[in-house]
Amino acid sequence: MKDRFGRTIDYMRISITDRCNLRCAYCMPHAIPHLPHSDILRYEEILRVVRSAAGLGITRFKVTGGEPFARKGAADFIAALKAEPGVACVTVTTNGTHLAEALPRLVKAGIDGVNISLDAVDPERYRQITGSDRAEMVLHAIEQCAKSGIHTKVNSVLLEDNEDQIIPLAGLAQRMNVDVRFIELMPIGCGGEYSGPDAGAALNLLKEIYPGLAPVREVRGNGPAVYSADERLLGRIGFITARSCSFCADCNRIRLTSTGLIKPCLCDGGTVDLRALLRGGATDEKITAALISAVWDKPAAHGIVGGNVTERRRMNQIGG
Ligand code: SAM
Ligand code: SF4
Repeated sequence: MKDRFGRTIDYMRISITDRCNLRCAYCMPHAIPHLPHSDILRYEEILRVVRSAAGLGITRFKVTGGEPFARKGAADFIAALKAEPGVACVTVTTNGTHLAEALPRLVKAGIDGVNISLDAVDPERYRQITGSDRAEMVLHAIEQCAKSGIHTKVNSVLLEDNEDQIIPLAGLAQRMNVDVRFIELMPIGCGGEYSGPDAGAALNLLKEIYPGLAPVREVRGNGPAVYSADERLLGRIGFITARSCSFCADCNRIRLTSTGLIKPCLCDGGTVDLRALLRGGATDEKITAALISAVWDKPAAHGIVGGNVTERRRMNQIGG
């Protein structure tokens, strides 16, 4: 469906939990108070929203969190989502720490892609950023995922603390068939307390090792990443330039939080409360109408460039 600016909205990011087993400094550095189970949408409730969305032409879905595999039944939910009529594409974004157990179920479900977040290859650097010793485990999960034939992407946020990891992270795309995407740090939640290089600085560093790195015109997923290729790399290098270059003119998405809020824009605090509708006996038509109104209300652009971010939630509550 189209929003008021003529953009086609066909992609929904679904956060199934705000909880996470890692403590990434820029995202969720401390444990969070547990929300009562009843605050979180049940899987059946999410699937009801998906059916309404699919009826509107929103046919591509990303499952995210918090850490999606921290929620019981996540892999089965992903399989159920993939099997829904009208659902064309299902991918997941994970920190990779529980991926190995979920992988066989995801392969069987025919998942269309897995994004694995890894901000450092070096175990000590990884521990500094995430508070966890699981760098090796995540690297292994990335390798297993790529070997399984699933389209695998590595997501790395650009931080002052991991500038020395940019080259080793890109090296993953040389060792195996994965795309490595560098994401500019956004001033959302705890992200506002940190800083990091922009994509241009990262590209300059990468060109010292991969001088042939050149942009390619390829669509490799649902997102705003722009990709570059080098003959020495099996996968692509991607950049998500939320800060240095607004990609809002091509925005294609809305978000559903684990508590049932539809977020028309990542950086805008405005939401539509679907949980109240779902639990208040709303008909399918009412759910559909709420989605239409959320899409219609999408702002023209996020406020990062103008310093006008009104979202006060943390990224683990939004899903990235
Ligand atoms: N836990 C999963 C993971 O880490 O992939 C899924 C949720 S996490 C919020 C989704 C993505 O958002 C991760 O790649 C994470 O690095 C990224 N992220 C979190 N905070 C960010 C920020 N302030 N700016 C840019 N990306 C951020
Ligand atoms: Fe957890 Fe992902 Fe946030 Fe890290 S970025 S704390 S893994 S939700």
